Amino acid sequence: MASHEEDCSPDTLAFMELAIQQAKLAMDSLEVPVGCVIVEDGKVIASGRNRTTETRNATRHAEMEAIDILLEHWQKNGLSKLEVAEKFSNCYLYVTCEPCIMCAAALSILGIKEVCYGCANDKFGGCGSILSLHLGSSEPLKSLWFHLPSLGNTSMLSECCHRERKPKFSA
Ligand SMILES: [Zn+2]
Repeated sequence: MASHEEDCSPDTLAFMELAIQQAKLAMDSLEVPVGCVIVEDGKVIASGRNRTTETRNATRHAEMEAIDILLEHWQKNGLSKLEVAEKFSNCYLYVTCEPCIMCAAALSILGIKEVCYGCANDKFGGCGSILSLHLGSSEPLKSLWFHLPSLGNTSMLSECCHRERKPKFSA
């Protein structure tokens, strides 16, 4: 697996807790419980949760929701494409579950600096579990897998794992 485990800093844990809160909101809405936050200069600048059921749109993953919030905000503020690219290159994503292949590709294209995720996604994972899209560009997306036991509140992540980790092949 391309991702690896690292010790969690207090900041990382705090941001992951915020991502878990987003995942809880998703679960309360009967969505697959995945949540994320995007951080720039140590501050959360966007958050997102899975909204595929609510929107009846299979692409509305937590990461896409958060990215769209930023794109809309930055476009309203008149940022150029170059400035938007520069902003994304300074952003960190904290997400409860490894980004899927679609999201990993999008994050890599946008040039997000680093992705930290709480559990592997062995059905759709795009950061090492199934494909390694984070390694595909000239500046590979740094992807870190934080081991579940190192997180204070793991129940949400366990739930997330449980829902995502269905058998790859069913009889
Ligand atoms: Zn996704």
